[in-house]
Amino acid sequence: MPAATKNIYKKLIKLSFSAMLILCLTACSFSGLLGAKSEVEKLSKTDFVLDTAATVTLYGCGDEQLLERCFELCRQYELIFSRTDERSELYELNAAGSMAVSDELLELITLSRDYAELSGGAFDFTLGGVSVLYGFSSDSPRAPSGGELAAVMEHVGWEKVRIDGNVVTLSDPGAVLDLGAIAKGWIADRVAELLLENGVDSAIINLGGNVLCLGSRPDGENFVVGLQYPFKDMSQTIADIRVSDMSVVTSGVYQRCFEQDGVFYHHILDPGTGLPCGNGLLAVSVVSPRSADCDALSTACFVLGLDDGLELVDSLDGVYAVFVTEDYKLHYSDGFQDALF
Ligand code: ADP
Ligand code: MG
Repeated sequence: MPAATKNIYKKLIKLSFSAMLILCLTACSFSGLLGAKSEVEKLSKTDFVLDTAATVTLYGCGDEQLLERCFELCRQYELIFSRTDERSELYELNAAGSMAVSDELLELITLSRDYAELSGGAFDFTLGGVSVLYGFSSDSPRAPSGGELAAVMEHVGWEKVRIDGNVVTLSDPGAVLDLGAIAKGWIADRVAELLLENGVDSAIINLGGNVLCLGSRPDGENFVVGLQYPFKDMSQTIADIRVSDMSVVTSGVYQRCFEQDGVFYHHILDPGTGLPCGNGLLAVSVVSPRSADCDALSTACFVLGLDDGLELVDSLDGVYAVFVTEDYKLHYSDGFQDALF
């Protein structure tokens, strides 16, 4: 790795909350564009939930109570999908190896399996044991030894998960499910539904950089979402895109990472080796109406790499992606520039 890149990585490690940048940029861009002319009221709340900083902003509709209900909903789903919270339903499933699960958990596991299949296993929701080894969510992440990694990798493989009615079974009791690459997107979709049911037609839901723009700006224009410039501070974007009723989700090496013995480690893992994907990518942003799709696809495309990732996105209707390579060049899927600039 070139020395300059290494230095950038070092700086990056200090910026652990980079995932929330997209939202800030969204909000800033929005108020900037509306300017002093607009009288539209903006109601916004930020809280720490789903292991990240989340912000919901309502434009010209809704009230504080509704805003609070959005966060309650996130906490409710966190108690189902969290891999680390001992009170969660997923934690119980991982411990039990087989059980009847709630409709919500069944839906997210089924969708995860569909994305594992669609991506040829690049998206693998059984990497939980490997994430535990690295401790990306902990205060002291570390690189595991080759032996530790090999022992845990034996229990990785999405085909070890069987779904029969609402009973989910891990055919390998050592497998650990981790829905971290899709849950925030799925939850953002549920928050959007709650807002729609309550008459909100203009809002931005940002769950730690997992952004969903509901409707358009109150003045009818598209929202502007800034894509973070990898490793730079939140005021710098690598591209600004224009969207209405669309979600924008980024998987980036800079979102959770650390350095050990001069080696850079990040949280997007190669299901074949258990090592952080080192395929020349810094980030992949996916844009589509459903946030769950964006979340799953951003991770899947990152793992697939530039060529196969672009091919997957181009095969799907209404889905766009931009890949950022290590030379900071942008690579767009078909139609991206026409639809989103
Ligand atoms: P973020 O969690 O920052 O939103 P992603 O959506 O890309 O980023 O999800 C990365 C998380 O998903 C990791 O922290 C890990 O828990 C899990 N994960 C890592 N590699 C994979 C993979 N290949 N397939 C599915 N999940 C993964
Ligand atoms: Mg994801």
